[in-house]
Amino acid sequence: MTWRDQALCKGKHIDLWYPPLEADNQEEYYAVAREVCHACPVWRKCLNDGMNEQWGMWGGLTPLERTSFSKNPKKTAIKPHGTVTRYRQGCYCKKCVAVNDAIKQQNKDFSVVPTMQDKDFDLFTVLYQLLQ
Ligand code: SF4
Ligand SMILES: [Zn+2]
Repeated sequence: MTWRDQALCKGKHIDLWYPPLEADNQEEYYAVAREVCHACPVWRKCLNDGMNEQWGMWGGLTPLERTSFSKNPKKTAIKPHGTVTRYRQGCYCKKCVAVNDAIKQQNKDFSVVPTMQDKDFDLFTVLYQLLQ
């Protein structure tokens, strides 16, 4: 068994983690994927494996957000303290730890996240359902 077997994104629609290149709303896809990644038990291994990948969300971080690990990260890549993203970018300040701890207590229903069988889905509706 590998970490991929425990991946919370298993069977979910790939477009959410790899938004269509022609889409001008890539962040809307990532916003849904991020909610899943934040609850994923294997995010560290995923992020580690995907650290140098050029495309897609790995460990809950977009390609831009993963540049935070490079020597010269893009300014917009680094998220504010008190976000799970900043925690995953390696900040363990009180605010980041608190938000990460809080998210572990959540018990979201990910059945609303589209699977590969779902041809048409509305990103805003899915995100809204996840944020309830
Ligand atoms: S962190 Fe996200 S992309 Fe990685 S295995 Fe988990 S759900 Fe999938
Ligand atoms: Zn922080």
